[in-house]
Amino acid sequence: MAAQLLDGKVMSDALRAEIAEKVAALKAKGVTPGLAVILVGEDPASQIYVRNKGIGCEQTGMHSVTIRMPEETTQQELEEQIRALNNDPAIHGILVQLPLPKHLDEAAALAVIVPEKDVDGFHVQNAGKLLNGLNGVVACTPKGALEMIRRTGVNLSGKEAVVVGRSNIVGKPMAVLLLQENCTVTICHSRTADLAAHTRRADVLVAAVGKAKFITADMVKPGAIVIDVGINRVDGKVVGDVDFDNVKEVAGWITPVPGGVGRMTITMLLQNTLEAAERTLA
Ligand code: NDP
Repeated sequence: MAAQLLDGKVMSDALRAEIAEKVAALKAKGVTPGLAVILVGEDPASQIYVRNKGIGCEQTGMHSVTIRMPEETTQQELEEQIRALNNDPAIHGILVQLPLPKHLDEAAALAVIVPEKDVDGFHVQNAGKLLNGLNGVVACTPKGALEMIRRTGVNLSGKEAVVVGRSNIVGKPMAVLLLQENCTVTICHSRTADLAAHTRRADVLVAAVGKAKFITADMVKPGAIVIDVGINRVDGKVVGDVDFDNVKEVAGWITPVPGGVGRMTITMLLQNTLEAAERTLA
């Protein structure tokens, strides 16, 4: 294997140890960081994500609650629950696990979370702050991906970065973060003409598409940093958007799936919850 592995588990373990120390310091001042996760319905993948978030809270000494609501929950019931958490001083971070059942309006629900407790960074106020270079809560997945890119030690200034995917929760904030690092950023999407011509120029390539093994070795510049955000289930196995086995022979650094960006995403959620709790003392 030519590429160095960017191991999300190793990085997360180190970061979670640091977070746990800060949590202990905050507890000594009388504040226990608290995360509330709202889970509506029975989506099996969501159940796993929510369980892992609870484990992360336990590892770092945070208080966590999971509020399980039935599939038939109404928009009003969901929003009332969010408002109750907005007003709960023991809760510093609120996360509504997505996707919500089809009859519910995700954007409307997320808008009800007070921006200070929006530890997912999905509220338009936090997204707007990121775009304007202001301090706000940064979405966990791109924040974690950037942390992994930074740990290569490569000077990002002036580098070509290509983000494949333009969702509000991954692609767009990822592109803004790379722009802040002074990369020259290209965002690709389903209407991009000649995708490979763009990806082959990338010193930093982020794949957030949702298609198994979509990025193949011939699309990657030798020595590139390749960040695989994708989580796809194929024959009961979780695989990324990058054809890992072949791309690792070309790239300089690569993230695995599982054990890559996904793990770091939860660690950034813990980080955001810690920071939200710290702000209550500021
Ligand atoms: P979305 O479905 O919201 O966005 C996918 C993006 O990929 C869209 O912008 C779409 O373009 C683009 N796309 C689709 N087909 C192509 C194509 N043929 N060529 C180029 N671009 C294409 O997904 P998300 O951003 O929410 O998630 C992306 C992946 O990351 C998924 O696998 C998801 O499960 C995973 N994920 C992982 C997380 C983690 O913690 N590791 C967290 C969040 C997501 P267009 O806009 O034109 O439709």
